[in-house]
Amino acid sequence: MLSSFLKAAEIVSNIKKQEVPLPISQKMGLITPLRVGDDLSLKSSLVSPVNYDREITKLLYNHTEVILSEGQEPIKENFEKFCATISNIDKVCLIWGLYKTTYETLGNRQFECSKENCKQKFKQEILLENLINEDTFTFWNEEVPFYEFIYPIEIEYENKFIYCFESKIPSIRDNNVLMSNLSIDTLQNNLNKTGGIFTKQEQMALLCKSISIREKGSLITADTPKTENLQEMLMTFSNYIPHVVSEEFFIKYRDKFDKYYPKFYTNIKCPNCGDIIKFQIDLEVEFFRRSVFGRRESGEEL
Ligand SMILES: [Zn+2]
Repeated sequence: MLSSFLKAAEIVSNIKKQEVPLPISQKMGLITPLRVGDDLSLKSSLVSPVNYDREITKLLYNHTEVILSEGQEPIKENFEKFCATISNIDKVCLIWGLYKTTYETLGNRQFECSKENCKQKFKQEILLENLINEDTFTFWNEEVPFYEFIYPIEIEYENKFIYCFESKIPSIRDNNVLMSNLSIDTLQNNLNKTGGIFTKQEQMALLCKSISIREKGSLITADTPKTENLQEMLMTFSNYIPHVVSEEFFIKYRDKFDKYYPKFYTNIKCPNCGDIIKFQIDLEVEFFRRSVFGRRESGEEL
């Protein structure tokens, strides 16, 4: 039995919940704020990327209830189902919800007006609620759920061969599986070099269910060389896939799926000339930096 004090503490901790749409899994998330212990559990998991990713996933899971359709009661899905049926894109929305309900603000950020004759420098506070605009969320619009959906991308090479990539939207679980194949050094290196968590090769492995290669003019048969193995795909993308092929892959993938990626941005007005600066943020990278390096490294001005 909880003491009456603990009961009161529990009730207070439950009063604040933030709703956020999960556009790809077509659910609504209800998020509760971070608590003191949460922060620590993340820091201690930084020795390996896969642990870190699992901790983040657990953290998001612990703070999330879902509403499956309008008017229904919020429920807690089991952890496995949560990871398999919530997309990596929805995860960014969960992070927004967690930030919103915990902090409300991203703090003050430094800006410089881009107008040639102005160049005014100023600070402005960025509130989480202002990052949501009419075009922020685009809802999944295919016949089957995202985790069953495959979009084949075929790319011809040297007029002789055809690469076929079975592309997809990755789930939280797919992301975790990829993380378990990377070292902390690789990850640090990626962040320093590209500002992102994954390199291009790793991203391709995350976005593909399989790759096959066949001669032009032939059909895919049981004998067509094909792999669904993540290690093999990582090796292939690092060593064997021509750069032009990967470029074309990303163009075609983006044409199909980019619209689903949530756009968190706000328009900032220059206090001097009134010109508008668009402030866009990758909340996943922001969250990562903040939990790895602390508040000061997140771009926030104190
Ligand atoms: Zn200005």
